[in-house]
Amino acid sequence: MLTKTRSPQFDIENIHNHIAKEGYQDPFLLLDTEILRHNANRFMAAMPRVQPHYAVKSNPDQRVLSCMKEEGVRFEVASKAELDALLAMQVPAAEIFYSNPVKSRRYIEHAASKGVEWYVIDSPEELTKVVEVKPDAKLYLRIYTTNEGSGYALSSKFGAHPEEIVTIIEHAKKCNANLAGLTFHVGSQCANVNNWRVGIRTAREVFDQMIAAGFKPELLNLGGGYPVELGSVVPSIEEIGAVVNKELEAFPEDVRVIAEPGRFMVADAGYFVAQVVGKTTRCGKPWLYIDAGFYGGLIELKDGLGYQMLTDKSGELVGTTVAGPTCDSIDVCVENQPLPSDLAENDFLYIKNAGAYSNACASEFNGFPIPGLVVI
Ligand SMILES: *Cc1c(COP(=O)(O)O)cnc(C)c1O
Repeated sequence: MLTKTRSPQFDIENIHNHIAKEGYQDPFLLLDTEILRHNANRFMAAMPRVQPHYAVKSNPDQRVLSCMKEEGVRFEVASKAELDALLAMQVPAAEIFYSNPVKSRRYIEHAASKGVEWYVIDSPEELTKVVEVKPDAKLYLRIYTTNEGSGYALSSKFGAHPEEIVTIIEHAKKCNANLAGLTFHVGSQCANVNNWRVGIRTAREVFDQMIAAGFKPELLNLGGGYPVELGSVVPSIEEIGAVVNKELEAFPEDVRVIAEPGRFMVADAGYFVAQVVGKTTRCGKPWLYIDAGFYGGLIELKDGLGYQMLTDKSGELVGTTVAGPTCDSIDVCVENQPLPSDLAENDFLYIKNAGAYSNACASEFNGFPIPGLVVI
């Protein structure tokens, strides 16, 4: 456990030192594990009743997972490979939550054979599938909740609506299934504190529906969505915690409460480093081509979240189009990014708070490498 009270800040000198020592070949993500550990402890301090289960998909690097484990964080997975990575680290299967609402039967069989107990469902069909493989599975129901004000809405793809909840509860009774809890997801990069308030209040109502049907729900899973500062100011984890802690008073002490932070844990621990490979003017506007893009770890830049980019130049800032290196027209990262007018070939771009959903999403499309991860 860290005892420091001051928040560690990412130091850009770390990047300069790394490049001075190792040279530069290809884009990479530089991750400061002190910040990672600090984030884990800050999350737990803000919500003392809530056990975090890190969402592995946000950055599945083994060194990230190890830091999380050492700080007392547990895990949430969506696939066989994520589960196996944790089992290889001696994480107990019974503590791992399988939070992907629609799973292949093969993956459920694998998880069950390894001892995973908790499985999310959000439809009668998925409930049937899970209990056919594992009749004593502990099921938690993912309910729909508002994703208003979130960078990424997830509620259009997953989550049971009120009339479906009724059907699922009845179906669970018929199947003799263990409906043991529920979950929701406010959407990723959620800047609207009220979404947690609404989610927890709705959860309380559905808990009562489950109890009325004869179930004994013992788990409330608050999901992910805790934001980091990208383009705009977001509520701090302490502000979110204040709302969450207050709303949790509606649940008795013996209800276990967990959450699934991904982005919050890892995003601000990482800077993504890329290099300018070409520069030109198109239709009167400056274009920079860099050696990583949509396919190479910068997929989120396209979504207008306002990622900040730093450089070593100090020229006047001009709205610049930043494009990736592949020959696909989708591979344009961002338009009108304010960047120094004197940026040139071989200069570096340092993309801030890029530790989550960056190299985790990269592919080798068109022959460009998946960015490496350097840990300090
Ligand atoms: C992606 C995901 C998370 C993590 O979301 P963040 O926005 O990164 O916190 C948590 N739970 C589930 C089920 C997810 O799919």
